[in-house]
Parts: sequence; C-alpha cells; structure tokens
Amino acid sequence: MLELRNVQTFYGNIQALKEITLEIGEGEIITLIGANGAGKSTTLMSICGIVPPRSGEILFRGERIERLGTDQIVARGICQVPEGRHIFPQLTVQENLDMGAFLRTDKGGIRQDLDYVFALFPILEERRHQAGGNLSGGEQQMLAMSRALMARPDLLLLDEPSMGLAPLVIRQIFEIIRQINQEQNTTIFLVEQNANQALRIANRGYVIETGRITLTDSADRLLTNPEVQKAYLGI
Ligand code: ATP
Repeated sequence: MLELRNVQTFYGNIQALKEITLEIGEGEIITLIGANGAGKSTTLMSICGIVPPRSGEILFRGERIERLGTDQIVARGICQVPEGRHIFPQLTVQENLDMGAFLRTDKGGIRQDLDYVFALFPILEERRHQAGGNLSGGEQQMLAMSRALMARPDLLLLDEPSMGLAPLVIRQIFEIIRQINQEQNTTIFLVEQNANQALRIANRGYVIETGRITLTDSADRLLTNPEVQKAYLGI
C-alpha cells in the first residue's frame, strides 16, 4: 500500500532521515519505534508532505506522492494524527469532528462515521458541545483520532498516541487502534516510544536510530529480540 524507497529528509543542513526504506501492506498495523529524536515524526511528516523528502520515493498504491501537496495526499486517503493532538481548542467537539470531514460531500457516510466514532468513544458524544480545549489529555487524543477517522482514511498515521497519558487510558487507546484496524479495515502506521504496547498490537515493526532503519521483523520476534528488549522494552 505504502512504500518508502531511500527517503532522505533534511531540516536545512540537518539530515533527519537517511535512506529510509520501508513498506506497509493493505490492512496491516505497522509500528516504527525509536528513541527521542530518532526521526519518527519526520518519517510521518515526509509521508504527508509536510516536510517533503529531498531525495527518494514514496509510493502510495503504486503512485509517486513525494512531490504532492498535503491536501492532495489527504485526498488520496492518508490522514495523520500528529504528536500532541493539535485539536482546535476553541471549537466544540462536534465542530472538531466536522473539520475532519470537510473534504467529504457524502452526508449519509459522514453521519455513519459520526455514529461510529461516538460508539468507539462515548465520552465524546457526552461532551460534543464542549470546547475541545476543556477535554482531558486522553479525551483530546480520542478527539484527534476521531477527527482523523471522519476523513475516512485508508491509511491512518498515528504519532505517539500514548504520549503523556495514564496507563489505563493508553491501554484503551491501543485497544481501539486495533478495533479500528479490524472493523474499518484501516491500515495503521503507528509511531511510538512506547514500544511494548505498540508491538503488542502490530503485525510488524521497524526500529529507527538516528535517522536510519536498523532492524525490521515481525512484532512477535521484535518483542523477544534481546537488543530490542534492552533498548526499548526496559527488560
Ligand atoms: P520525538 O520522539 O522526540 O518526537 P522523533 O523520533 O519523532 O522524536 P524527529 O522529531 O523526527 O524525531 O526528529 C529527528 C531529528 O530532526 C532530530 O535530530 C531533531 O532534532 C531534528 N529536527 C526535528 N524537527 C526539526 C526542525 N524543525 N528543525 C531542525 N531540526 C529538527
């Protein structure tokens, strides 16, 4: 579904991504794990055209997308939930969700997807008329994910959804990521520092260190790999 071939991305003179090559199949949950500053967010931002690569290719369903604008990439079915949520704090929950569907014209489908996100996160329905900025951190993460789902993406990019959340909320969020993947057939690319939880729901994983992919394997094998355990799982 998505393929990165030798992607190199820079911030001025600083090279953040070095020959990143990876692939994501239709229907998979793939995780990219790595330490602070390894290049996880930059990988996602390169895919969505926010920080386009200087060289290399990004293919989505066989089409080169690395020179397209973010709006064109979103229109093809890729949607990102950025690190730190970035919901609209002054808008209500309902208005935030409406923003997610702004490219769509199928009223029936939008209604259905609204029912779906309210079924996933009933608390958002209860708070639908409250300002997004008044929600707790966990609720804002739920809102950010729901806003992305309102665009009906085929590929959902999640940047550290567990960041700053309590363990119970983290478990709930990861369970719902798995549910979205199964029920909506949404392919998921999950960037995480919380390697343990991410690998538990993923099919496969990639490890990134200082801008390079250093390891890739099935999630099960990564969970039992001694180097991964030592560096990322605290074992
Ligand atoms: P984190 O978990 O802290 O978000 P990350 O793995 O997502 O880390 P990136 O944010 O992709 O890492 O950063 C990769 C590298 O690029 C780091 O060395 C970082 O300092 C650098 N970098 C990121 N954003 C910028 C920027 N706007 N300008 C200059 N350098 C940047």
